[in-house]
Amino acid sequence: MIRKIKPNILQFYFENFGSCVYLLKINSKEILIDTSSREAREEFLEDLKKTNLQPEDINMILITHQHWDHNGNIDLFKNAKIYDYKNLIKNKINPEQTQGILFIEIKVIHVPGHTDDSIAFLYRDVLFSGDTLFHNGIGRTDLPESQPEKMHESLIKLKNLNYKILCPGHV
Ligand SMILES: [Zn+2]
Repeated sequence: MIRKIKPNILQFYFENFGSCVYLLKINSKEILIDTSSREAREEFLEDLKKTNLQPEDINMILITHQHWDHNGNIDLFKNAKIYDYKNLIKNKINPEQTQGILFIEIKVIHVPGHTDDSIAFLYRDVLFSGDTLFHNGIGRTDLPESQPEKMHESLIKLKNLNYKILCPGHV
């Protein structure tokens, strides 16, 4: 299913279990935030078709964290540059200097807690929070890869951002 968040931002959400996917069009580049699960693959492809896009048209994928329900369809997008915690924060890659197409307007925030590799993205007044923050609660911190002691600080970071619309990893 498709929901319009802004003229250049769509949300895809699915019957089968999997994360939401967000499609952003910025400077005529097609950017995905997360790719949902294998289980949601067919629905995702259907939705993509309805937007008149082919998987090859996607230029960039931003991954909020490497959980299977968020990264399950990365392999569909042969022309996309993939960005996650490791190649953005850990290796200190400055998005503004990458490939020329990156998303000068997208701010990347490291928010460990749900996982140590969780990142959030702020685009103008829209916050993409992955599994750190939901509309009615916060993400799990009892997983082996969680860092529960860091969750509070991460939530404060998000709270201090100037956003109006929350786009979480699950609805
Ligand atoms: Zn997760």
